[in-house]
Amino acid sequence: MAGRNFLFIPGPTNVPDRVQSAMIGAMEDHRSSQFPELAHAVLGGLKKVFKTAQGTPIVFPATGTGGWEATLTNLLSPGELVLAARHGQFSHNWIEMVKRLGFQAEVVDCAWGEGAPVERFLEILEKDQAHAIKAVLTTHNETSTGVVSDVAAVRRALDAAQHPALLLVDAVSSLASIDVRFDEWGIDGCVAASQKGLMLPAGLGIVCVSPKALAAQEKSTQPRYFYDFGNMMRSNATGYFPYTPALTLLRGLRESLSMIEEEGLDNVFQRHRRLATGVRAAIVDGWQLGLCAKAPKWYSDTVSAIVVPEGIDSGRIIDIAFRRYNLSLGTGLAKVAGKVFRIAHIGDLNELMLLGALGGAEMAMLDAGMTIEPGSGVAAAQNYWRGHEAAPQKTSARNEAGVAAQKSPRR
Ligand SMILES: *Cc1c(COP(=O)(O)O)cnc(C)c1O
Repeated sequence: MAGRNFLFIPGPTNVPDRVQSAMIGAMEDHRSSQFPELAHAVLGGLKKVFKTAQGTPIVFPATGTGGWEATLTNLLSPGELVLAARHGQFSHNWIEMVKRLGFQAEVVDCAWGEGAPVERFLEILEKDQAHAIKAVLTTHNETSTGVVSDVAAVRRALDAAQHPALLLVDAVSSLASIDVRFDEWGIDGCVAASQKGLMLPAGLGIVCVSPKALAAQEKSTQPRYFYDFGNMMRSNATGYFPYTPALTLLRGLRESLSMIEEEGLDNVFQRHRRLATGVRAAIVDGWQLGLCAKAPKWYSDTVSAIVVPEGIDSGRIIDIAFRRYNLSLGTGLAKVAGKVFRIAHIGDLNELMLLGALGGAEMAMLDAGMTIEPGSGVAAAQNYWRGHEAAPQKTSARNEAGVAAQKSPRR
């Protein structure tokens, strides 16, 4: 098919040219005296993205799922109990992992489309006088439903109950696109991955751990090897890794962290907010459709799950979009299969890229038999973006750096 594929799934996301270029190059010795430069740049840069001074970022050659496993197996001992909410496919999967690894979960089931049930958490934590609960799991951005949860409020619930459980947060589809404040929110273990907000291919499972988590790690009797934080941190302290790192991805990560720094982390969040608001205008005002997220406070700035009317199969819309228009939209997962399709607005994106996605989604919805007004979503998004200018960007620095990077890809 001529032209490019329009990739609007919530990971893998679009990889910027600068990051692609940075990943081209010969392999190098990961035990050389020069290697620590790369390791320190990446680990130091991640601290800024996590907004942490006291946390320790750790990078595994894995994915977000590996990051989940790393946090559980390092911070818990066999049979220990966690508290978690299930309100979408990713929170569900993390709970599944808890059980399969031999830990226990107290699960609060919520409607898909709602965020973490902070008041229920508070009640349960207050009742747990014996402190049987060792960790509270929170999925910051539930990618299957387009729901963002209030992690700071979960922290406040733990504090109000004076409960010592660790706060473990899945920030796989929020880090580097929706604000994550590791220190301020008192997060103990935070999980991310390379292929979402960090604009890289899949292949890195990234976690950040607090000093309190590391104290728990010392006491954990859970067997682990590949994901052992101890081995990793001892090597990282000297600028190395205990086994072969994913060199190519680390080079790409150094570049994507530079791009985020140049744009300004808070500007990156604002860009995502503004783009997401335009997409929501298209969905709600233009197409007159509803979001899976049940209240505006839960609207995600990285992905919108759109509910299709009864009698329409969202899977058909997604297939038509892909086959006829070379547009990749996010599918409805598990409980919402056939009922929603998703437009991701995460990573390296601007208005015109999104207008392509909205225009393609419109055509696919019409082809699938939906009655929406042609052009209505595109017009609503255009109106929003024209009426709400972007914050001034340091575009010149960005472009100059981009040209420089293309001339001489860093090794
Ligand atoms: C993508 C995603 C995961 C899984 O990450 P992988 O890198 O695919 O293993 C976990 N949680 C959330 C919220 C996600 O969006």
